[in-house]
Amino acid sequence: MGTDTQLTLVFIFTIGGLLIWYVIKYTGNKKVLLEDIPDLARVIEVLGKNVSFFKELDKNARFTFAERVHYFLSTTKITAEKGASVNDEDRILIATSATIPLFHFKYWSYENLDEVIVYPEGFDEQYGLKNEGSVILGMVGEGVMNRKMILSLEALRNGFFNSTVSHTAIHEFVHLIDKADGAVDGVPEYLIPKELVRPWINEMHANIIKIRNNESNIRDYAGVSEAEFFAVASEYFFQRPQLLEKDHPELFELLTMIYNPGKLT
Ligand SMILES: [Zn+2]
Repeated sequence: MGTDTQLTLVFIFTIGGLLIWYVIKYTGNKKVLLEDIPDLARVIEVLGKNVSFFKELDKNARFTFAERVHYFLSTTKITAEKGASVNDEDRILIATSATIPLFHFKYWSYENLDEVIVYPEGFDEQYGLKNEGSVILGMVGEGVMNRKMILSLEALRNGFFNSTVSHTAIHEFVHLIDKADGAVDGVPEYLIPKELVRPWINEMHANIIKIRNNESNIRDYAGVSEAEFFAVASEYFFQRPQLLEKDHPELFELLTMIYNPGKLT
């Protein structure tokens, strides 16, 4: 083997090694790396201005949170459709809604999601706008829409800027977390410790009965099914934790054990 050939081989192995290192280091457990996304400084600026969950974290946790938001943006496509005008802040708020429920799970990301599609407003079951049935504010796709989520831009912004209404984006990400084990049934099997499954199901059923009897301040929609209860109660938990703790202490404690297991031990 000549010196030239040896040098070429060394060169090829070096470049190959660097490429493998780069792919492992920068892609986490997802493969796509998108460009043209807001940088970390911009993410921190938007979070500091608009997100109370972020503002309540200590300095180190804030930085980790911002990095997680940035990671979501770099691995998940966000597409504006049907005339929606989506800016940097909206993109960061979508990624924030994804990050909040999983923040206390270091190694979790949304392996069941490739793209978030943003419509300007609510839509109907045929994905039409401005029809009588245009009341859907967000959905997690099935069939050909599998691995995609649709969000109404108006509902996304309302979730952050009008805390008395629902938080559609967090709601839909909670459905995805619920869906990760194969069943959208209100029991997020990857998050919840086994011994909590039964108490959690009992708590859901007791609350659903109260909601259906108009004896609860939890939004009516939570009475539709276990899956909707879990999503609506989670919105409540992340948006107004103090109020939930005061009005529904047992539900608050169980949700804390699900979303932030380190806190109570
Ligand atoms: Zn729902």
